[in-house]
Amino acid sequence: MNTNTTEFLSLKNRSDNAILNTYARYPVAFVKGEGRQLFDTEGKRYLDFAAGIAVNSLGHAHPRIAKTLFEQSSRLTHVSNLYYSEPGIKLAERLIELFGPGRIFFCNSGAEANEGLFKLARRFGQESGKFEIITALNSFHGRTLGGIAATGQEKIKKGFSPIIPGFSHVPFNDLEAAETAITEKTAAILIEGIQGEGGITPARAEYLISLRKLCDEKNLLLLFDAVQCGHFRTGRFQSYQRILEGGSAEFSFQPDAVSFAKSIGAGFPMGGFWLPEKRIDLFQPGSHGTTFGGTPLACAVANTVLDVIEEEGLQSNARETGRELAEGLRNLVSTYPSLLREVRGLGFMVGLQLNGEARELKHEKLNPVQVVINRLLEKGLLVVPSGETVVRFLPPLNTTRAEIEEGVQIVKQVMSEL
Ligand code: PLP
Repeated sequence: MNTNTTEFLSLKNRSDNAILNTYARYPVAFVKGEGRQLFDTEGKRYLDFAAGIAVNSLGHAHPRIAKTLFEQSSRLTHVSNLYYSEPGIKLAERLIELFGPGRIFFCNSGAEANEGLFKLARRFGQESGKFEIITALNSFHGRTLGGIAATGQEKIKKGFSPIIPGFSHVPFNDLEAAETAITEKTAAILIEGIQGEGGITPARAEYLISLRKLCDEKNLLLLFDAVQCGHFRTGRFQSYQRILEGGSAEFSFQPDAVSFAKSIGAGFPMGGFWLPEKRIDLFQPGSHGTTFGGTPLACAVANTVLDVIEEEGLQSNARETGRELAEGLRNLVSTYPSLLREVRGLGFMVGLQLNGEARELKHEKLNPVQVVINRLLEKGLLVVPSGETVVRFLPPLNTTRAEIEEGVQIVKQVMSEL
């Protein structure tokens, strides 16, 4: 790290004086990226298993993305949704192929995509007076007023009262809790297939199937927030497809809406949601919109992202190389049982659960995961915390075996030195 170099200190100083202080940043400034590598102001190399928090699905500076950005921006960047343009139509057609028959709404971020789901639920319940959405404890659904209301974490809501009414939270993977929480006002249940900010906790297959049944019986919408776990990260397009794999529901299971964002644009901001055919009439012209949604530039990039994922077999890379990541980390759990508890997740969405009680991870000011992440950063590996005791690995979908090995070796070194 370059905490003390003049260039870093100057950037930090300018940032502190110009950018609102809403993030606790790490003491590093990046100037360049290449594949799965990042370089800081000192020229130090880092292996990037954070991928901009599950965004850079093709790593950094991918030549195909650069080419698409250049070509599309030389032709047409934005016209608004008052007119038609081909890149968004093509992208929607391809997403429908992947999700199933229905329609796509494009927007610009995960929180905005989820706002669409909240509005969908209200629209759905409007005539019968239903508007409440049940979500999971430890979930994360974004930072808008609706997003923080939906998020099942008190710390996210703190200081923003009154919180928008109409959301309740129940333990994840607990069907009985969801059933008990249903009232005559409930319109929908919203979950993440794998809780990303809540410790990398995948939904169990029986839970998904039972939730679908429960929602059908009670006439509720079953909504998925796939902002982090979607778009091939788990080794399938959607996490619920991966979780249900091999079972009778693998091909028949269908949510009532799925939100997406992050890696769909591989770094170009975009989001959206999919609705199955039977829900598309809940929105009509005038009921929802956004200026930038589905802009030709964003959609051209997302089309290229889909092309590269397909051409380079990145779905199976996420699955197979992701398995090697999990296995490598599991070996470390066996070697360092006093520091590490378990490994969870699917594909390239992996959580390493620390033993929060370990003496070596205690720190006056930092929680255990920060202690570990700071050490990894010093050694040139970028990862992200998930809660206070889980190290989250979200490598780009094109990460190689050799890079995974290198990353695991860095974790091993840090564990051996703790
Ligand atoms: N939903 C989930 C599951 C997320 O992980 C995130 C962001 O981390 C969001 C929603 C919010 O997305 P954005 O930050 O793009 O608004």
